[in-house]
Amino acid sequence: MLPLKYPTGKQKATFEKEYISLVFNNEDRKQEFIISLNKILKKIGYTNNLTLDDILTRNIEWLAEQSENINHLLEPGSVEEDELKELFNYSDRYQPKIAEFFSSQQQIKLRTCFYCNIDYINTFIGLGNYVSLKDFLFTADKSELMKLNSIGDTKASKVIDLRKKATKVEDLGLSKNLLKRLWKIDFRNLEIKDFDQRAIFNHFTLDHILSKAMHPLTSLSLYNFVPSCYACNSKFKKEKPLICKATTHNSPTSEKFNYHITSKFKYIFTSCKAISNPANDKGFSIELEQSEESELYGVLFKLEQRYREHTDIALDLLEKRQKYSESQLLELSRKLNIPVDTIKANIFGKEIFEEDDSRYSFSKYKKDLSKQLKVIE
Ligand SMILES: [Zn+2]
Repeated sequence: MLPLKYPTGKQKATFEKEYISLVFNNEDRKQEFIISLNKILKKIGYTNNLTLDDILTRNIEWLAEQSENINHLLEPGSVEEDELKELFNYSDRYQPKIAEFFSSQQQIKLRTCFYCNIDYINTFIGLGNYVSLKDFLFTADKSELMKLNSIGDTKASKVIDLRKKATKVEDLGLSKNLLKRLWKIDFRNLEIKDFDQRAIFNHFTLDHILSKAMHPLTSLSLYNFVPSCYACNSKFKKEKPLICKATTHNSPTSEKFNYHITSKFKYIFTSCKAISNPANDKGFSIELEQSEESELYGVLFKLEQRYREHTDIALDLLEKRQKYSESQLLELSRKLNIPVDTIKANIFGKEIFEEDDSRYSFSKYKKDLSKQLKVIE
């Protein structure tokens, strides 16, 4: 439902390079992979030049096309098909590495699910509550100390030994350079870059836009992954395809993605209150308006039904709008000498002014309804 915002220019190139080197951190294995791939392509008579780096980092449009070309040449159930699936085996071999990449990268902000914008998909650092570096170094156990990037087994043992008699951080046998780095860590606001993978947990699952079963060639491709919540990926979408070659604009990883613009939530006001429909006793129901070609999206993720369970948010907005008309808000703004948008953000929620819809849960929902109520333009 929301597009993934990738870095651009030079940062994009670095981002892609980091992805390739994390997935294939062993050059020998990468070369073996390329040899095996070329053998399969030769056997099926695929003559285009296809590099592994391209497969890993080219855009979803290109991927869909290449995969379909290859699928035309693959006999269903043939040895070559099995070989290709085995070579691009995501689940057994590459899944942990790819998840690690998405957890540790800082370019795409992982906050709410890109499909539903309901559940959070953030990564977090699983560390006890420490208020300062001193608190951490003097009270954390060995396994906690080793979660810091710069502290290994030997250093952790040394700290634990020395702290029995030490009174300050400088007495714990850590080098000046290391301490200089450690002092920069804000223990009330931890950053992923300072920690080892063992300390990092996440709430996301990685969905394949082009399914692994139908498009094995794309199983490891960066722009074929959408970090999403468990419900969207495993309960609703599962292995169902979201796009084919003709509809790549439906992929949140595509530059052409526009579902978030062409779809919107709307109040449907009802004049008579029907007892049979619980939403109607509020005097309205919520509809998800979407273009015909994108309907699959809403259907697949059961968006309308899931959002219908949250009509209390819509009711709250509506009641606030009835209480605060535009002229009253302008008057308040003048009296308090506070910009009218600040007042609106305080009353209706800061999400409606947030540029990045994926930052807060229900952001798109609240924005669409606020537009309809003319709270925002
Ligand atoms: Zn979701």
